[in-house]
Amino acid sequence: MIKRAIYPGTFDPVTLGHLDIVKRGLELFPELIVGIAENPKKKPLFSIEERKEMFIESLKELGLNGKVKVKTFNTLLVEFAKREGAVAILRGIRIVSDMDHEFTMASLNRKLYPEIETVFLMPSDDYAYLSSSAVREIAFYGGDVSQFVTPFVERKLKEKFRR
Ligand code: ADP
Repeated sequence: MIKRAIYPGTFDPVTLGHLDIVKRGLELFPELIVGIAENPKKKPLFSIEERKEMFIESLKELGLNGKVKVKTFNTLLVEFAKREGAVAILRGIRIVSDMDHEFTMASLNRKLYPEIETVFLMPSDDYAYLSSSAVREIAFYGGDVSQFVTPFVERKLKEKFRR
């Protein structure tokens, strides 16, 4: 059986930190599916279609397209994982404070669907303090985000905040 993993998140927008986790995930799993959660409760800045497009274009810019599928979902994560036949859920842990939330989610998901493992990966130190919310904040004030996101995402942020 091919070991397929899913990497779920809001990706509002995808950052180089997320893409670093994708690269590391591909070292472990031959098939990787990025799952973009609709997540209306978080009131995302970008629509789910925009977030998907940004992920696909960023993968292309890094030469990772073809190796990764990008899908959207608006169900429980474990339902999506089951539907996709995944054996693992990938999550990124940046700093210790991520752990509280991530361990809670992983434990609940294990109760809902014991067959699936959550696998935590650490990004490169360069991205340990990077988050989508920080990127949105910097872009909102017209700051330079080129070291945090791909050129495609940088353009989309500029369009979004053009005044
Ligand atoms: P969610 O709303 O599910 O937390 P995010 O898009 O914020 O979605 O994050 C998706 C996953 O990527 C989470 O596991 C998060 O911890 C991880 N992540 C976010 N930013 C980074 C980063 N800079 N480096 C590594 N992992 C990250």
